[in-house]
Amino acid sequence: MKSCPNCHEEIEDNFEVCWNCNYSLTENKVVEFEDPTIQGTRKIKCLRCDVPMPYSGNFKFHEGSRYGVFGNLFEVFENREAFDLYVCPQCGKVEFFTAQAH
Ligand SMILES: [Zn+2]
Ligand SMILES: [Zn+2]
Repeated sequence: MKSCPNCHEEIEDNFEVCWNCNYSLTENKVVEFEDPTIQGTRKIKCLRCDVPMPYSGNFKFHEGSRYGVFGNLFEVFENREAFDLYVCPQCGKVEFFTAQAH
């Protein structure tokens, strides 16, 4: 075990980035990760309007956060943590997909 010079959490010896604060031991600074789920890769058409539904972002759950306005809808997805969001530009229909692994 070694400890993070930034937040002093313990880090496994084979990790080069602190799991807690993203401090990179090789770069000696906190690094931002590119989120691999940030891009939508699906080609989706609105069933109603037959127009392509553009990718509108990635919706993520944060640990301990409430589901808010979505209420019970997402409880069935409790084991998932990220969704790709597509919105129909014509009728406003929203589709969620579990984020794909790239
Ligand atoms: Zn740290
Ligand atoms: Zn539509």
